[in-house]
Amino acid sequence: MATVEENKKLIKDVLATYPEKTAKKREKHLNVYEEGKDDCGVKSNKQSLPGVMTTRGCAYAGSKGVVWGPIKDMIHISHGPVGCGYYSWSGRRNYYIGTTGVDTFGTMNFTSDFQERDIVFGGDKKLSKIIDEIEELFPLNGGISIQSECPVGLIGDDIESVARAKSKEIGKSVVPVRCEGFRGVSQSLGHHIANDMIRDWVFPAADAENAEFEGTPYDVAIIGDYNIGGDAWSSRILLEEIGLRVVAQWSGDGTFTEMKATPKVKLNLIHCYRSMNYISRHMEEKYGIPWLEYNFFGPTKIAESLRTIAERFDETIQAKAEEVIKKYQKQCDDVLAKYRPRLEGKTVMMMVGGLRPRHVVPAFQDLGMKMIGTGYEFAHGDDYKRTTKYVDDATLIYDDATAYEFEEFVKKLKPDLVASGVKEKYVFQKMALPFRQMHSWDYSGPYHGYDGFAIFARDMDLALNSPTWGLVGTPWNK
Ligand code: SF4
Repeated sequence: MATVEENKKLIKDVLATYPEKTAKKREKHLNVYEEGKDDCGVKSNKQSLPGVMTTRGCAYAGSKGVVWGPIKDMIHISHGPVGCGYYSWSGRRNYYIGTTGVDTFGTMNFTSDFQERDIVFGGDKKLSKIIDEIEELFPLNGGISIQSECPVGLIGDDIESVARAKSKEIGKSVVPVRCEGFRGVSQSLGHHIANDMIRDWVFPAADAENAEFEGTPYDVAIIGDYNIGGDAWSSRILLEEIGLRVVAQWSGDGTFTEMKATPKVKLNLIHCYRSMNYISRHMEEKYGIPWLEYNFFGPTKIAESLRTIAERFDETIQAKAEEVIKKYQKQCDDVLAKYRPRLEGKTVMMMVGGLRPRHVVPAFQDLGMKMIGTGYEFAHGDDYKRTTKYVDDATLIYDDATAYEFEEFVKKLKPDLVASGVKEKYVFQKMALPFRQMHSWDYSGPYHGYDGFAIFARDMDLALNSPTWGLVGTPWNK
């Protein structure tokens, strides 16, 4: 593995290709972690530079694609031109149970399909008409959200008025979300806006409905698990096995009713901190509900998290947590016995969204693998502080890495595996490098929980030890 000095030189060499001004700006986003420091020392959550290829998404992607989209019994209107919704349609594989088109709508795409005349004359009437049509065609929907795309904000449509009027008329919640793509520097602001709309448009009305809620001392909510390939299910099983009652899932396989009941739980359990810390902080301030971050990637962190969660409850739950950890020990041992010898010592470089670049590291370590570089698309300063607890000395850190930077880093550090997104996948696979998509689990999953770890280990083995790689040569070896 490269030393701190070698990696610092690598950053300098890669930056040398840029014009001086660009290099100066990008330099602040790249660093090498040095043991003992409490920060990775990179700038983050800043606008990407014009002219570079960023992998970031927009605020609409953060709201519709991440936070709101998976609420399965609601209909989420992609309000604006058809492309934004069409190209982001079902991309995150948020699994759900229900009858699509009747009581659940997760894999359907609703759009107001803006045309020139809507830009000129405004789209409010069209929006109103769409809501009428939705009510007629899908009467079992639990509510509607309006996910604004760029043109809606640019022409200044009053979606809040439409939402208020239609909500009154149809007797259901209609939530306007001002998540136009141009807001903020990445999808991260979309998460924040989506959280804020739940705070302002959902919770106040829900408070009255929650008067009837019959609580137990063991009520929790899973926050920030999008059920990619079934992640929330393999997590929920464990929480229920230790004796907790999962009242709500935010938002993978979640319902609007669950969302509204969340202010009644005793503890919010946050998996993806970046996308849902805002609403958790709000629930703490307004309703006094504490929140706890946990990590269900890999047996080490799963056991640690189960114990930390159980500590918040009584001895019954604590004893059950120990039982559950013990129960899955054999399964974990079998997985490790099978895969660890095949993966031991392999190196990985990651570049994902706002949580996984640190959260998945221990799962790789459980398999004997080593993270030599990691970075986020849209992390903030608090994410990079948290990352220091996961990475080793001399790990290369890159914030909002450009396509060029990531490619050059990989070429120089030559990891055995690259774990990133679909935009990177084919670039690296064409270099004959084993690759796994870490946003969508590469059409596999779940990766959370003990059951997910077995699949994670198998997938990493499949990627790394496929005989295919011997048939193509890496450019630097030719
Ligand atoms: S940036 Fe605007 S136009 Fe592009 S996908 Fe996002 S909302 Fe749509």
